[in-house]
Amino acid sequence: MNALAATSRNFRNAARILGLDSKLERSLLIPFREIKVECTIPKDDGSLVSYVGFRVQHDNARGPMKGGIRYHPEVDPDEVNALAQLMTWKTAVADIPYGGAKGGIGCSPKELSNSELERLTRVFTQKIHDLIGIHTDIPAPDMGTNAQTMAWILDEYSKFHGHSPAVVTGKPIDLGGSLGREAATGRGVVYATEALLAEHGQAIRDLTFVIQGFGNVGSWAARLIHERGGKVIAVSDITGAVKNADGIDIHKLLAHKDKTGSGVLKRENAADVKAKFIIEAANHPTDPEADEILSKRGVTILPDIYANSGGVTVSYFEWVQNIQGFMWEEDKVNNELRRYMIRAFHNIKGMCQTHNCNLRMGAFTLGVNRVARATTLRGWEA
Ligand code: GLU
Repeated sequence: MNALAATSRNFRNAARILGLDSKLERSLLIPFREIKVECTIPKDDGSLVSYVGFRVQHDNARGPMKGGIRYHPEVDPDEVNALAQLMTWKTAVADIPYGGAKGGIGCSPKELSNSELERLTRVFTQKIHDLIGIHTDIPAPDMGTNAQTMAWILDEYSKFHGHSPAVVTGKPIDLGGSLGREAATGRGVVYATEALLAEHGQAIRDLTFVIQGFGNVGSWAARLIHERGGKVIAVSDITGAVKNADGIDIHKLLAHKDKTGSGVLKRENAADVKAKFIIEAANHPTDPEADEILSKRGVTILPDIYANSGGVTVSYFEWVQNIQGFMWEEDKVNNELRRYMIRAFHNIKGMCQTHNCNLRMGAFTLGVNRVARATTLRGWEA
């Protein structure tokens, strides 16, 4: 099942549990705006090459739309659409005043030089600059993009609109980025894990961990788990895996890391998973069939729209700091992040109890209900 079908299915289940009116349900599902642009750039050798870029703005009932931009060969409209929708529920679960969006360019960033990436990012920004903005839609990094990409977007956007640091988050610190933003998604994953384990009377130091994906999120999560005395016994990425039943030396592995990637849970391997808890640090890593198999086997899954919401939560803190013109200490960022992650966990548990559902449906009903309420309050008069 593709990402859009799977996400929409989860949404519809949540809408049914909440008893949403069918017109409201339809309006929440359909994106606010879908943008598709052609980006043609000269390569370093002078030849021309074209890439297709997307920005899907899913919903803005709770605030400006928010979400990353990914550079990846498999970027397609359906996937961006699904990820934009997930951002709407994610920002609502985190209870930050945003809607949801996502963007992407279908390209292989590892095969482009730095100057080609810069040209591509600038052309993409030229094509969407009048549709993004501090109070409309605020991009951030995602797979294949980073703080440097945000710096180029900020620079290009500012040529049209004047210096506007708050138009993107996940920027370099020198350009108004927030302390703690780079580690935030991985750190949020760890805070989410702690909240879940506390419920089961367990702590990170009592358990062993397997980490799938060793990019920004996986490597920060590994480092923080290691710091808390948790034992990481396996790490895998697209290029391979390392295992050590006595615990991997994360610092050594980080020193060796230059190969990153990802892997996902599918029906074919769901039966082999021996874990008791699965924390979804990636977006949409578990397809619905795998979800069902794992749930039947009693595996507790902490869903993506909660587990990885630390990134967008600290993006919100970055935007707030830019608007305030004031910089927070890193401790303040991390403490606030922890507070938001714990609060969201308890809100999700509340929905699980009210609706007698699992954590994924608890998170979806929480997010969808908040967006539905905001939409209804704003009204339908044209
Ligand atoms: N790309 C991240 C996500 O999927 C962060 C988005 C943001 O900070 O706006 O949540």
